[in-house]
Amino acid sequence: MAYAKERRVAVHAVLSAARLCTAVQAGISPASSMTKVDRSPVTVADFGAQAVISELLAVEFPSLPLVGEEDAVALRSTDNAAMRDRVLTQVQRVLPAVGPAALLAAIDRGRFKGGGRGRYWVLDPIDGTKGFLRGDQYALALALVEDGQVVLGVLGCPNLPVSHEHPEQGLGCLFVAVRGGGAWQRGLHDPAERRVRVDQEADPSLARICESVEKAHTSHSDSARVAALLGIRRAPHQLDSQCKYAAVARGDASIYLRLPARRGHVERSWDHAAGWAVVTEAGGRVSDMRGRALDFTAGRELRHNEGVVVSSAALHAPVLEAVQRVMGGYRAWADHPPGGGAA
Ligand code: AMP
Ligand code: MG
Repeated sequence: MAYAKERRVAVHAVLSAARLCTAVQAGISPASSMTKVDRSPVTVADFGAQAVISELLAVEFPSLPLVGEEDAVALRSTDNAAMRDRVLTQVQRVLPAVGPAALLAAIDRGRFKGGGRGRYWVLDPIDGTKGFLRGDQYALALALVEDGQVVLGVLGCPNLPVSHEHPEQGLGCLFVAVRGGGAWQRGLHDPAERRVRVDQEADPSLARICESVEKAHTSHSDSARVAALLGIRRAPHQLDSQCKYAAVARGDASIYLRLPARRGHVERSWDHAAGWAVVTEAGGRVSDMRGRALDFTAGRELRHNEGVVVSSAALHAPVLEAVQRVMGGYRAWADHPPGGGAA
């Protein structure tokens, strides 16, 4: 199988870091998190999961760089010594040989700038940190990019029901996709894999939309307008993180809309790379709101894209048409920004 070693190592790394995240979430307290320069929250588990995954990848693939959301700048400050110690304690429960210097180096390995040449990993150690802090959904999202193309994606979803229809079956799943090999779901503690596919509903009015819980991350009102145009009556399925990509990949929802809540927002590569692989290999389509492919050659950010529209293959054209009608004003603004500057 192509990418067999990459797949095995990536799955093992995500499962190892998921144990750390589950333990931190179970004992979450105000001391578990701090605020980043961009005012978003970061927790012991974001740093710890990036360290664990980075370390395990580096052992098996020492020459492959890593685009990771976190860096260790704040943890090097003496003001944050207590936070650094908490991260180290959690990491050592998974990787006992990692000391303080190796911890910071492992996190900082994630500072690679990405781009359209060569091979590198893309990691969001905890996607949906706000969901994680609320006790809700979050995902560990790891992808492998080759010459700007995503060739492998792993989504660890510790709080996602194994079955949307049968929540009594318990929580915790992992999705993995290799280019050309389909998308697969397994349990966090059960290695048996089953293939997942997007749903085959062809009538947009019967589709279900999923979207972010956080209204600052996506325009709920524009999604509602798209739903109205498509004749969708069901309430949206709101959940944090790339669990939304997983939800579309296995048919819990048919559409995932991420429409800019504020003009000019640029999406991050680690918020989409793994999810892109899982949905695409499940038979779905991913584009931005203008219908352009997500461009992972752009570096750490998807600066050539605006918004994200994910759906089953059958629904992508009608959904995109509705999105473009709703976002028309945005589009005109982006093409001709006030003052004539870059959008
Ligand atoms: P979600 O869990 O779907 O709400 O998405 C979480 C991700 O939203 C985080 O990883 C951030 O990178 C990203 N994010 C932060 N601010 C914004 C914003 N203004 N618009 C869209 N996404 C954002
Ligand atoms: Mg994220």
